[in-house]
Amino acid sequence: MTERKIALITGGSRGIGFSCAKELAVNGCDIIINDICDAATAQPAIDEIKALGVNAWFYQFDVSNDEQVKAAVDKMIEEHGHIDILLNNAGITKDGLFLRMDAEQWERVIKINLGSAYYVTHAVIKYMMKARQGSIINMSSIVGVHGNAGQANYSASKAGLIGLTKTLAKEFGSRNIRVNAVCPGFIQTAMTANLGNIEEYAKAIPMQRFGTPEDIAKVVKFLALDTDYVTGQAIEVAGGLML
Ligand code: NAP
Repeated sequence: MTERKIALITGGSRGIGFSCAKELAVNGCDIIINDICDAATAQPAIDEIKALGVNAWFYQFDVSNDEQVKAAVDKMIEEHGHIDILLNNAGITKDGLFLRMDAEQWERVIKINLGSAYYVTHAVIKYMMKARQGSIINMSSIVGVHGNAGQANYSASKAGLIGLTKTLAKEFGSRNIRVNAVCPGFIQTAMTANLGNIEEYAKAIPMQRFGTPEDIAKVVKFLALDTDYVTGQAIEVAGGLML
């Protein structure tokens, strides 16, 4: 068993999740990466984290499948003993104007983006309670605060994460478990790769650029490791977008 803190990051093999994994690893955490991809696809991410001098393990499961989540989290505890930091990061988009949004589009996004936070947190938090400590971070979005035409399903899922965050902060503060949300603006990842003309979008951002995954990782690291007294917050990391 390791003495380092262990961070579980869902959807962590690429994009924002992977950047957060590296930032936490650089700061001395062992890392458990979850993703829906197979182990071979995630292996380069695991190798890159291990090269930072910490342990890194991969668990393949679908965060929207309650049974898979429970089995995987129990296995993690059996194999590694504890989970100190949980980053609920896995997420998808299935955009469309509301009148054309079918029920499958709605349900899939709600289940993966919001349902997953229930499943994974529910499986992990009982172990955090026993340890009387933990930090949970939910990857929301500024559209969960402000809304966005064409993203009713995604915005609702991200707003739901903020409600969940604030409620769990109230329920678990006395157990020394902090729960916060990060609300990124436009961040350059695969998720925003097909937006088209990035320069045009950037003009609407006071800081005149898209964010990087590293911009988000710094805030996640602050919430996970640098503070013991911040809880129930939804922190916008968006270069001033929608101020
Ligand atoms: P990304 O590059 O698409 O990464 C998301 C990861 O989640 C992928 O590795 C994906 O795997 C995984 N995933 C999807 N469904 C899953 C499932 N059912 N079970 C397990 N893993 C699953 O996206 P990103 O931009 O880094 O986004 C990360 C988080 O930040 C998301 O929650 C997103 O909503 C949020 N966010 C992003 C932005 C932005 O501008 N990029 C802004 C605000 C919020 P596959 O690709 O193999 O399916």
